[in-house]
Amino acid sequence: MSEKILILGGTNEAAKLASDLVDAGYDVTTSLAGRTKEPEPVKGAVRIGGFGGSEGLANYIRQHAIARMIDATHPFARQISLNAKRAAEMAQIPLERQERPPWQPHKDDRWVEVETLEAARDTIPPKAKVLLALGSQHIDLFRTREDVHFIVRMVDPPKQDLPLKHHSLVLGKPPSDAAAEVLLFKTHDITHIVCRNSGGSGAYAKIEAARKLGLPVIMVARP
Ligand code: NAP
Repeated sequence: MSEKILILGGTNEAAKLASDLVDAGYDVTTSLAGRTKEPEPVKGAVRIGGFGGSEGLANYIRQHAIARMIDATHPFARQISLNAKRAAEMAQIPLERQERPPWQPHKDDRWVEVETLEAARDTIPPKAKVLLALGSQHIDLFRTREDVHFIVRMVDPPKQDLPLKHHSLVLGKPPSDAAAEVLLFKTHDITHIVCRNSGGSGAYAKIEAARKLGLPVIMVARP
């Protein structure tokens, strides 16, 4: 019997890793937090939802006889990575971390690099039209900027009204094509992008589009 591997997922890289390991004959389960209604299909077994902190995760590992855990979560998903470290220690199994490198600025990029989301909010100039490329849980922080028009992109419709005075909602996954992002930026007269330095190719089109249009990107650095 092959060893059981638990991948903490929710990223394209985690899905690719699951596919490679399943093809190599491993018994793989990918864990998703359950944030998206219809997640992309993942090869192997999938479980969905929180574990109940590091102790819950350690219990899951013991109950399912997991031999190895791979944390391939998003670089800004800090809590689950912290829980994974503690749980691996408690359950005494090896933990690997797969983290994509951050994006590096190109010579034609106009990045304003900041340390926190609060600093990003305070850096937006008055009356800007901003693509807010952030998870829905971070939007509330921007409610005080009543002078700014936000363009918010979400995969699933929000469960309640967005707490922003002026905003437009764009539903759907971010395109992987810079031309599609250029069109969106032009349609909404976007003047600034606010995003985090996630790295990877999946969300890079907006960075390329901003470069093409010469738009400033307020880039939140890795924690
Ligand atoms: P987080 O703040 O680090 O985690 C919050 C809680 O959500 C965790 O304590 C855990 O709950 C649960 N959780 C997170 N990831 C999980 C997973 N893969 N499987 C089971 N439970 C998980 O995480 P987040 O920033 O909300 O991100 C949630 C998920 O979305 C992650 O899987 C991440 O890879 C993916 N994602 C995040 C971002 C982002 O910008 N943060 C972007 C793209 C994808 P319990 O304590 O109850 O176990």
